[in-house]
Amino acid sequence: MDKKYAKNGKTKAFLKRNMYYIIMGVCILAIGAMITVALLTQDKTPVPDPVQNDPIPDPAGNDPDPVDNNPEEPVPTPIVFRLPVANEANVQMDYVMDTVVWWSTLKVYKVHNGIDFAGAETDTAVAAYKGVVRKVEYDALNGHYVEIDHGNGLVTYYGSLSEPAVAVGQQVEAGTVLGNLSTSATAEMKLGPHVHFAVYKDGKVVSPYDYLPEGDK
Ligand SMILES: [Zn+2]
Repeated sequence: MDKKYAKNGKTKAFLKRNMYYIIMGVCILAIGAMITVALLTQDKTPVPDPVQNDPIPDPAGNDPDPVDNNPEEPVPTPIVFRLPVANEANVQMDYVMDTVVWWSTLKVYKVHNGIDFAGAETDTAVAAYKGVVRKVEYDALNGHYVEIDHGNGLVTYYGSLSEPAVAVGQQVEAGTVLGNLSTSATAEMKLGPHVHFAVYKDGKVVSPYDYLPEGDK
């Protein structure tokens, strides 16, 4: 214990005696450090100049044109149907969803979710727009019917056909013959030969007039 105190005492005495030199030493180190920092910073300053010069020749790479082309997305053209009948359009029963209408065959008031285009049994029903046949079926109320998938949730329906002339999975164009007008839909028999044309968007009935050209009503 005593030795320790003695040592501490010696150290204190040494520090007191040499304090002047110690402070001088610290100051010299500090000045040296400042000079070093100053020199290093000076060295760095000239470096950016050549770096700044580099981008100037680059404008020769003024070919951002291909880059500009990428954001240009094609504007989707609105879908316009052709009439689903090859011959003259004769609307026998119109699309009515906001109120009920008299169904002469069923003798009830109901909405009518499509347009009935009537004609002769020799007249053909045709695809209103290009797509893929997704259903060719028959039931007593709707008769022979065909559904065409046009993509993006858009589907067209053709009911009361004679024997369909297309098969499931078949690619069709606007105007492809689907079958003849007929009275196969017993729910609409009294209307005579016709095609019941309906349009679905995302599984819901929409007005065919949203897609038919103006003035076809
Ligand atoms: Zn109908």
